[in-house]
Amino acid sequence: KPNVVVSELMKMRVFASITQSIAADKCEALLKSRGLKLVADKREKKEESKPVVKLSEPEQPEDKEADRVARPPIVAVMGHVDHGKTSLLDALRDTNVVAGEAGAITQHTGASMVERKGMKVTFLDTPGHSAFSAMRQRGADVTDICILIVAADDGVNAQTKEALKIIMDSERPLIIAINKMDLPTANPDRVFTELQNLGILTEEWGGDYGVVKISAKTGDGLDELIERIHLESELNELQGNPRLPGSFVVVESELEQGMGATANVVIKNGTLKPGDAVICGEFYGKVKALVDSNGKRLKKAGPSDAVKLLGLNGPPEVGAKGLTCKNEREAKVFADERVHALRQEKLVKPRVTSLEDLLSQVNEEEKKVYKVLIKSDTRGTGEAIESELRAIESEKINLEVITNAVGSISNADVQQASAAGAEIIGFHSRVNPGINKVAKQVNVEIKLYSLIYELIDEARECMTGLLDKTH
Ligand code: GDP
Repeated sequence: KPNVVVSELMKMRVFASITQSIAADKCEALLKSRGLKLVADKREKKEESKPVVKLSEPEQPEDKEADRVARPPIVAVMGHVDHGKTSLLDALRDTNVVAGEAGAITQHTGASMVERKGMKVTFLDTPGHSAFSAMRQRGADVTDICILIVAADDGVNAQTKEALKIIMDSERPLIIAINKMDLPTANPDRVFTELQNLGILTEEWGGDYGVVKISAKTGDGLDELIERIHLESELNELQGNPRLPGSFVVVESELEQGMGATANVVIKNGTLKPGDAVICGEFYGKVKALVDSNGKRLKKAGPSDAVKLLGLNGPPEVGAKGLTCKNEREAKVFADERVHALRQEKLVKPRVTSLEDLLSQVNEEEKKVYKVLIKSDTRGTGEAIESELRAIESEKINLEVITNAVGSISNADVQQASAAGAEIIGFHSRVNPGINKVAKQVNVEIKLYSLIYELIDEARECMTGLLDKTH
């Protein structure tokens, strides 16, 4: 029990809380006093023998200062559910609809470029902060400015606080948009007070943070919001160099029928053109087409542009960085090396750091492992499902995600699940013809879902079920 551990440690003159790291010898002494042994030794050795993999990248030409020009800001909108993220993005886009190009099929590009009063802004489409966090985790955050949206009739909420923390950690400039100002129950002063309680002093109250009162419904304040974004981007001197080869970051990826792997990307710098050879995460290819949100095929895409990229040999992760290579051959060499490095990484277990980790290992033998193989329609949903599953708390059960991939459920998936003793979870994913039969033969369960909460509820039940069996 944590309290026992803490008090035992105190007797040894170690004053640590349960999440703190302690020296290995202290830990060993503690365990010894209870007749236990430190099992972390084995892992530490493995860690040492891990080959140092440094990912190489294609060489890029010098970014000459003289070639740099101002580029549009890339903006992420975050806030509590129902406070109007989607409505705001829709309202901004609506003002920007290109008058009916016949036959054009609008494409979802993961980000939308909005032009108002001659000012361009790229808004990341994914509402909420999951994509933003994923990008940040991979050190590939393209966001220049964050907007925190707060509904004036509801005020600061749990997710508002969560989003605020992420924004503060990212050290990006923050603009607060107080939405739903059209409602008679709107109470912006309450929002100001609540923000102040969180240490965010708005301009109106003499602080640093810009605030714009808007209504996504009536469109009031949207021009002001765009102006404010521009002011912020001028202050931050956002620049790009269109003369460089294109580099980009993935905001979404998918396997689309008739198109293969598609990646919705935002150009971070340089100019990307069809025909360019690129490496992106562990995938590579020659750019077959760059399509904008109006379904138009582009001859080139420059800094801050949002496009759908066709031509990669697989769907890269959200936040994967893309770079231009000399040719396809060079791109393949880099891709092969990365696939190899990823495999190596998967063989090495994470290092033991905290007391909790160690304690969990002591009990590990008693734990049951629930193994799953996830197939979903987009990389982003796959990642969201995985993190929701991991959030299910269970003392006696470990969740192990064997694979988390995009696409339909294939024979290879069933074989892999069978070998690992895992279940297959499909989200908006089809089962290839004949595969249900194979799965039955090898005793692999395939569960298909189209609602996240159903998936999570059932998984939770399943994990409790496993728990009961262990009692
Ligand atoms: P999200 O969950 O943050 O993406 O929120 P939505 O954009 O889906 O909005 C949630 C609800 O609030 C919807 O019913 C919207 O119609 C409504 N809504 C959003 N913005 C406004 C606004 O400015 N005024 C009013 N009256 N309703 C709004």
